[in-house]
Amino acid sequence: MTQNHGTDDNRPRRCFASFDKTGGPASLRELADALLARQKKNWPGLMDGYAALAAARTRRIRGDGWSVRVQLNPRRIVSSGAKLDPESIRRRPCFLCPENLPPEQEAIFYRGDYLVLCNPAPIFPGHWTITHVRHLPQSLSDRLGIFLRLAADFGSGMTVFYNGPGAGASAPDHLHFQAAPAGLMPVEEEILQTRKWIGFKRSDGVKIYRTAGLGRGILLIQGGEEECVTAAAENAIRAIGRLTSAAQEPMLNMICAHAEEGWRLILFPRLKHRPDAYFREGPARLLISPGTADMGGMIITPREQDFLALTPGLVSAIYREVAFDDAMTDALLELLGETDQGQFFT
Ligand SMILES: [Zn+2]
Repeated sequence: MTQNHGTDDNRPRRCFASFDKTGGPASLRELADALLARQKKNWPGLMDGYAALAAARTRRIRGDGWSVRVQLNPRRIVSSGAKLDPESIRRRPCFLCPENLPPEQEAIFYRGDYLVLCNPAPIFPGHWTITHVRHLPQSLSDRLGIFLRLAADFGSGMTVFYNGPGAGASAPDHLHFQAAPAGLMPVEEEILQTRKWIGFKRSDGVKIYRTAGLGRGILLIQGGEEECVTAAAENAIRAIGRLTSAAQEPMLNMICAHAEEGWRLILFPRLKHRPDAYFREGPARLLISPGTADMGGMIITPREQDFLALTPGLVSAIYREVAFDDAMTDALLELLGETDQGQFFT
């Protein structure tokens, strides 16, 4: 299904297909599925990654009004154990730069600037990384539009997500998003329970509210117009920055889904990347490095001792330590939009 066209200089050497606009011969989802099927056959490293995922043990942990799934996945030690201080980042070759990708890796050339790649250490049964072709820092500044476009191009069966540079991105120096089939993170279902929605605000056709009782503060932004959703999200990010006194992009994770009625953003404002227990020595250490998937309720543990150690209380304590609580999210919501007393719809 190779569909190369155009002569853009950015096009990767191992280009499986190009995707430039909706309504082409194949949807982005179809191309991504076809790329994955092909790479599972012609890239042994990817085969190993999916074999590890198939063998991964999982546990369900239920808290008060929320639940998480814990996945024991030793291959994720590369990400969970990564040194992320600026000096370590500067000294390592960037694993997302096109010239450093594994020789077997092929790409879908996406809208002239991005590569859709199969993630070689998947945590979902279909896990893609979408990287910029250039080595640009991880940031949502001027990138929310393409993030929303990516969700729309993938379609309603997929979820795209973003790890802030200080909140779970293992390559904070290289702009990237991720994608997976929709509905695999428990929060995607939990946020559909409208009784957990609080404090509805309206801003320029966009509906904004927060959830309550999910163990960590979550802001939801919904709307049908790309520019309005982008503006509301930018506004929210600025407000998180003010509340956390962030000098640059505040710590956050974001999940985005697109359906017929428009976009839904699930935003997790963060206080901290890794919990203190991450840095302890010996048996007290907890090697959990929360990114978007973990905040979404899919907690990844590369080591068995952490997989077994987690309890509802411990998960709750980690969320309290690294994320906004409901009261802080309420303060955030107060900075956004107009209060609306009217009825709203999902
Ligand atoms: Zn790079």
